[in-house]
Amino acid sequence: MKEIKNFINGEYVTNASGKTYENRNPVDNALIGMVYEAGKPEVDAAVAAAKAALKGPWGKLSVVERCNLLDEVVNEINRRFDDFLQAEIADTGKPAHLASHIDIPRGAANFKIFTDTIKNVSTESFEMRTPDGKTARSYGVRTPRGVIAIICPWNLPLLLMTWKAGPALACGNTVVVKPSEDTPSTATLLGEVMNKVGLPKGVYNVVNGFGVDSAGAFLTAHPDVNGVTFTGETRTGTAIMKAAADGIRPVSLELGGKNAAVVFADCDFDNTIATLTRSCFENAGQVCLGTERVYVERPIFDKLVAAMKHTAETMKPGRPFDPDTKIGPLVSKKHQAKVLGMYAKAKEEGANIVCGGGIPDMPEDLKDGCWVQPTIWTGLPETATVVTEEIFGPCCHIQPFDTEEEVLNMVNANRYGLATSVHTQDISRAMRMANAIEVGLCWINSWFLRDLRTPFGGSKQSGIGREGGVHSLEFYTELRNVMIKY
Ligand code: NAD
Repeated sequence: MKEIKNFINGEYVTNASGKTYENRNPVDNALIGMVYEAGKPEVDAAVAAAKAALKGPWGKLSVVERCNLLDEVVNEINRRFDDFLQAEIADTGKPAHLASHIDIPRGAANFKIFTDTIKNVSTESFEMRTPDGKTARSYGVRTPRGVIAIICPWNLPLLLMTWKAGPALACGNTVVVKPSEDTPSTATLLGEVMNKVGLPKGVYNVVNGFGVDSAGAFLTAHPDVNGVTFTGETRTGTAIMKAAADGIRPVSLELGGKNAAVVFADCDFDNTIATLTRSCFENAGQVCLGTERVYVERPIFDKLVAAMKHTAETMKPGRPFDPDTKIGPLVSKKHQAKVLGMYAKAKEEGANIVCGGGIPDMPEDLKDGCWVQPTIWTGLPETATVVTEEIFGPCCHIQPFDTEEEVLNMVNANRYGLATSVHTQDISRAMRMANAIEVGLCWINSWFLRDLRTPFGGSKQSGIGREGGVHSLEFYTELRNVMIKY
C-alpha cells in the first residue's frame, strides 16, 4: 500500500496524530494509498523550516545561482516524466494524452518561464534636485516576500501548483504547499526532485490534508506566513482572505468562473465547433477557463446545437491509457454527486436536454468510477441555476441571441469574470467584444492558448491579482525604494 507523507525540511514525515485518509483512483475507485494528514504540529514545523531556510544558504544565493538550481528542477521533472504522469493520472483519472501534453510539460515549464523572467527584469530609477541644491537618486530593489503558503485545487494539480511555486522560488521566497486532499501525489513527489537537485532543506515543503480544521486552515492562519496564494472556489477564497486579514498578509486569488463563449453567424464554423468541444468537455469540464454558457447568433443556432450534440456523443469515456478514450471521470465521488445534482436541477428547472444528463453505461470494471455524461441543455432562462452557477463538469447551456447589445448584457450579468471566447471573422466586432466583456482573459477564435509572459487572472468574483511573466513579481516580491542623497 502506497503511503503519501508530508515533505518538511527536506524529509518525508508522517504526523503526530496518526490520522490518515484514503486516496482513491476516480476511474474505478481503487485504493491508491493512504495520506498522512498534517495537523498543527506538522504545519508549524513546515512553516518554521521555510522561515529558517530564508536565512540559510537559499537566501545567500545570487539570482543566477538560484535560477540554475530551478532549471535543474525542470530537467529532473522531465527525466522523471513518467513517474509524474503516472502519479497525476492515478489521482485524477484524466486521459494520458491530456496529462502528457498539458499537465506535466506545463508543470515543468512553469519553473523555466519565471527563471527567465527574474534574470531579465529591471527596476525603476529616478533622479531629482533637493531643496538644498544637492541631488537625490532613487532606485527600486525587489526583495522576496518571505514564506509563501500555496493552496491548490485538484483539476490541474502539478500545473497549478508550479504556476505559483515557480515564481515564488525564482523570486527567492520559500514555500509551504497544501495540495488538494484529492490529488496529493505530484506535489509530494516533487520533494524528491528538490532533494535530488540539491535545493536547500526547508525551501520547498508540502503539508497534506483538508481545508477547514485541517492543514489548509492552519497554514493560511499561521502568523509566520507572509503571503497566501490560492487557486480554488470563490467561497474558499473568501475564507482565505479573511484568515489572511489577521496580520495584513497579501493574497493572490485565482477563483471560480462561469465562462461564456459568444458565437457569431460569420464564424469559422468548424474551428468554432472544435474549440467549443475542447472548452466545454476537455478534462471532463474541470477547467477553470472552461465554457459553461454558449451564446449563438440565431441564424446558426440549430446547426451549432446539432454539431455540438454530435461531438458530445462521440466523446468516449474510458481508462486513461486506452487510446480510444476521449473523456475521463470526474475527480471524486463528492464532485460527481455535485455535478449530478446540477444535472437534476437543470431538468427540474425545465431544461431541454439535448444530450447526456446522467451517468454513462460503463463496463463492469469501471462502474464504480466517477463518470458523468457530457451534457448540453437549451431553453433555460438566464436566471436558471445551471446558467448562473459554476458546475465544473462536462456540460453547457446554449442560448440564441439577436444583437451584440443583447448578448453583452447576458454575458456580463454574472458575478464571475474569469474568461471568455468570441468567435467571429469580423475583427472590429471581435475588438468591441473584447473591450466590453468583463473578464480577465478573452480569446478570439481560440481557447486556452497561453503565452506565459502575459497576465493571468480573473475580474469580479473570479479573483484578485494577476500572475504570469513580470506580473507575478507584484505578489512574490516586495518592491523597496532606496534613495541616496549626494
Ligand atoms: P476548493 O476551493 O474546494 O479547494 C481548493 C483548496 O483549498 C484545496 O486544497 C482545499 O483543501 C483548500 N481549502 C478548502 N477550504 C479551505 C480553508 N477554509 N482554508 C484553507 N484552505 C482551504 O476548490 P476545488 O474544488 O479544489 O477546485 C475547483 C475550483 O477551483 C473551481 O471553483 C474552479 O473554478 C477553481 N479554479 C480556479 C482557477 C483559476 O485560475 N481561476 C484554476 C483552477 C480551478
